[in-house]
Amino acid sequence: MASTFNGENYNVNLWEAHKNMLTQPLKDNDIEVYTIIKKENNRQKTGLELIASENFASRAVLEALGSCLNNKYSEGFPGQRYYGGTQFVDELEILCQKRALQVYGLNPENWGVNVQPYSGSPANFAVYTALVEPHGRIMGLDLPDGGHLTHGFMTEKKKVSATSIFFESMPYKVNPDTGYIDYDKLEENARLFHPKLIIAGISCYSRNLDYARMRKIADDNGAYLMADMAHISGLVAAGVVPSPFEHCHVVTTTTHKTLRGCRAGMIFYRKGVRSVDSKTGKETMYNLESLINSAVFPGLQGGPHNHAIAGIAVALKQALTPEFKIYQQQVIANSRALAAAMMELGYHIVTGGSDNHLILVDLRNKGTHGGRAEKVLEACSIACNKNTCPGDKSALRPSGLRLGTPALTSRGLLEKDFHKVAHFIHEGIELTLQIQKDLGPQVTMKEFMEKLSGDVKYQGLIKALRDKVESFAAGFPLPGIPDF
Ligand SMILES: *Cc1c(COP(=O)(O)O)cnc(C)c1O
Repeated sequence: MASTFNGENYNVNLWEAHKNMLTQPLKDNDIEVYTIIKKENNRQKTGLELIASENFASRAVLEALGSCLNNKYSEGFPGQRYYGGTQFVDELEILCQKRALQVYGLNPENWGVNVQPYSGSPANFAVYTALVEPHGRIMGLDLPDGGHLTHGFMTEKKKVSATSIFFESMPYKVNPDTGYIDYDKLEENARLFHPKLIIAGISCYSRNLDYARMRKIADDNGAYLMADMAHISGLVAAGVVPSPFEHCHVVTTTTHKTLRGCRAGMIFYRKGVRSVDSKTGKETMYNLESLINSAVFPGLQGGPHNHAIAGIAVALKQALTPEFKIYQQQVIANSRALAAAMMELGYHIVTGGSDNHLILVDLRNKGTHGGRAEKVLEACSIACNKNTCPGDKSALRPSGLRLGTPALTSRGLLEKDFHKVAHFIHEGIELTLQIQKDLGPQVTMKEFMEKLSGDVKYQGLIKALRDKVESFAAGFPLPGIPDF
């Protein structure tokens, strides 16, 4: 059947099909993507998730994320938008800001928050853009020592992170013998380097940070102190680790790690009176608010992801409850139980334990390294990641495994369950050693992988462990939207 549209023939059936396309469920509309998501859902359900940066968002968070808020453009900030129709997203963003300050016990007279960063990395880059001039100096914990890429990572050969390209980066490190941050060396180097900004934040460090000491070092050098609490923001919200707010000028975070929201970021900044002149009584005010807000928009980003802001707001409401606090207490209790069980099995834990949600297992005394163990564990449905340990000679051959408890704690595992998890990991590592022994000491990763996937004997052993792991995991329901 033909009709006309702008003078041209068009097909009414096609027009009807187009309408249909907009209302079909994913399963009917795109079976390929649906099937992939279904497989991923099954992987999450049957496996043991020990990646320290991951978590399972609640059903309410995922519903907010999958809502019509995805459709709305609202460049600008509440009350000052470049678009119409923003009355409800204004309401949402203001609510999200209010909850964010409430969760961290901050007085709105002294602290403000930007909830628009698309994720943790853009949040950090926005702070550097706001506070550090091009090629200005920053100091962050080195990546191999437990810092994050965005804290200025570079190697001798290459400036890897854009942070090290557009700014001058000098890392600080952990003491290779103890695994603890070497604050004396940071102090000494800061005195020589005169950074504009010092970053207190970790992606793989199992101990609390000494924010007071770092603030003193920052003050002695006229630097800002920024905490990047991406990994621990849920623990801070529940008050189970020290809060960085007392000592920092700026605090950034992701919202999807221990905070258990959707993937996004936030930046908290001080405002109000910065200092009072003791002689004249003249007040100097913070100017961070306008610098940071304008770095986020229009400096680096366009329209805020309103569906993500809704997801953050929902997660923050949950973070204000007593049940969230008990969850975070359990995250730490589980981390300690996992560390204790691994040590009982003869493993070396960097720093000898954990104050937070993660541990770093040093495999050097076992005669293997993280890369191989990670692959064997993956084949057995245990997800974790290889990580460098203090004193590692090569970043390409990290000798440790980073294990985190937030995700499995969201599935309801308790200390006794983590004891079992430790034994599964141990079995996986023993299997790694056995394959390695069969192949001889000089084996390459490629040969190792061929053996792992091609040898019937190992296929059988891996399947036996995987079956045990999967039936154990099946006992703990997956949070989120049921039966995707
Ligand atoms: C995860 C992480 C980030 C980056 O977050 P993305 O959302 O992955 O960009 C930044 N800083 C630290 C310390 C992190 O652990």
